Amino acid sequence: MDLFTIGGGSGGIRASRLAAEAGAKVALAEAGRLGGTCVNLGCIPKKLMAYAASFPHEMETARSYGFEAADLRFDWPTLLRNRDHEITRLNGLYQQALERAGVHLIRGHARIIDPHTVEVDDQPITAEHILIATGGKPWKPTIEGAEFAITSDDAFHLPEPPKRILIVGGGYIAIEFASIFHGLGSEVSLLHRRPLLLRGFDHDVAKHLGEALRARGIDLLLERTVERIEKTPSGLQATLSDERVVIADAVLCAMGRTPNTKRLGIEALSVKRDGDDFIVVDSSYRTSVPSLYAIGDVIGKKALTPVALAEARAFVQAVFRQEPISVDYAQVPTAVFSSPPVATVGVTEHEARAEHLAFDVYESTFRPLKASLTPDPERTYMKLIVDRTNDRVLGCHMVGPNAPEIVQGFAVALRCGATKHDFDSTIGIHPTAAEEFVTMRSKRP
Ligand code: FAD
Ligand code: NDP
Repeated sequence: MDLFTIGGGSGGIRASRLAAEAGAKVALAEAGRLGGTCVNLGCIPKKLMAYAASFPHEMETARSYGFEAADLRFDWPTLLRNRDHEITRLNGLYQQALERAGVHLIRGHARIIDPHTVEVDDQPITAEHILIATGGKPWKPTIEGAEFAITSDDAFHLPEPPKRILIVGGGYIAIEFASIFHGLGSEVSLLHRRPLLLRGFDHDVAKHLGEALRARGIDLLLERTVERIEKTPSGLQATLSDERVVIADAVLCAMGRTPNTKRLGIEALSVKRDGDDFIVVDSSYRTSVPSLYAIGDVIGKKALTPVALAEARAFVQAVFRQEPISVDYAQVPTAVFSSPPVATVGVTEHEARAEHLAFDVYESTFRPLKASLTPDPERTYMKLIVDRTNDRVLGCHMVGPNAPEIVQGFAVALRCGATKHDFDSTIGIHPTAAEEFVTMRSKRP
């Protein structure tokens, strides 16, 4: 073999297909379902459930437009059945794509036994290059009663939506699941250890989102942690660091993910890892052992599917096409599929300040036209960070309906080095929320 890939998730599948298309002889081992986290326990099922959760709010809006929905009930088993049917379809599509590309698919857990040999179910296979694309998994804190808590993996398969749920964490998964369960009728408490949600995002965005979640009815508990969880006749009782007690039917820990590096054989080969166990790679995704490479969540750069795909391409370009390309980690657009959603690309205000940039801030807060016939007071927030020295737009941030769809397009503009003048001279599409980004005229004083 020229390449043995361990892990058939976003990164592993893309790298294997591209390497095979470049003429390499490729095998891929997958211990679970093809498509990895994104397809089976991440992006896809999450987004489908977020769609489901958006309908009650849409129906409330519809009332103000003259609709009366009688006898509309939600059936959780139907949602899960239809979702899982779609996931199975995607599993099959990935298998076909690998077969079409000529990749030899091996089902089972792979372990590296020497720098050129991988063993799957006691069968050794040798390869010139080995790619580790094993992704990550959620973790739970070592507090008393942690065994009663669930993770996002479990949240996808609950027998019914919990009537009351406590979600611990202030990142992507905590916020997305808070919106999903709230939309589907659960009473949701969202607990985060800091004063602002979404570390790394623009602070005004995080603040606006927190207020919006609260206004929608999520009980946002900030600057607190969970000390212990006990099972009581009235439900799971979580005691918080401020002594407050929250009773819930489920406690979801969404506190980040750890890389899948165990039982992989890399300890014995002394593959270099950082303090959080992520595999350390160079710009070609080569590890400290020259024949071993790693991409995706297991290297801990940006745990996003499109980033794993970009790394897969960069790995193949470097190793099988001898035309290296680099992944630009600075301008990765990203979205949180909450209600309302958040999307962002580029520099935040606090980053601009920390880098001592000379910059201007343009921002806008407005009521979406769709909400104008409704009692819904929620407002959309938009913000641009503009470099004062050359007029380039450095950051574009939004909280509000369709933010992910809108910011994806503006990410192209930022990548092309668009200036504020380019934004201003672009004609808007009226009436949209997106046009606000090309009509922001006054700087924040
Ligand atoms: P994975 O997709 O995790 O694939 C790794 C694969 O390796 C798995 O299939 C695993 O079974 C297999 N494996 C592990 N060890 C072995 C072994 N020893 N032998 C054989 N096989 C092995 N990203 C987005 O961009 N947008 C989103 O909306 C989004 N939503 C998410 C929602 C949730 C709840 C979660 C958890 C993640 C989400 N992500 C999202 C992140 C995204 O899923 C990951 O960044 C992406 O899947 C990483 O791809 P990967 O190839 O590195 O790993
Ligand atoms: P995140 O890193 O986004 O968030 C983890 C949260 O847990 C943070 O708020 C963090 O707080 C908190 N936390 C961590 N350790 C502790 C602790 N010991 N005690 C209390 N709180 C703690 O991870 P997620 O699990 O939400 O998601 C994992 C990754 O998956 C994301 O980073 C993202 O890359 C990807 N993902 C992407 C999605 C998307 O694209 N829409 C959706 C879901 C996941 P603090 O900030 O203080 O460290």
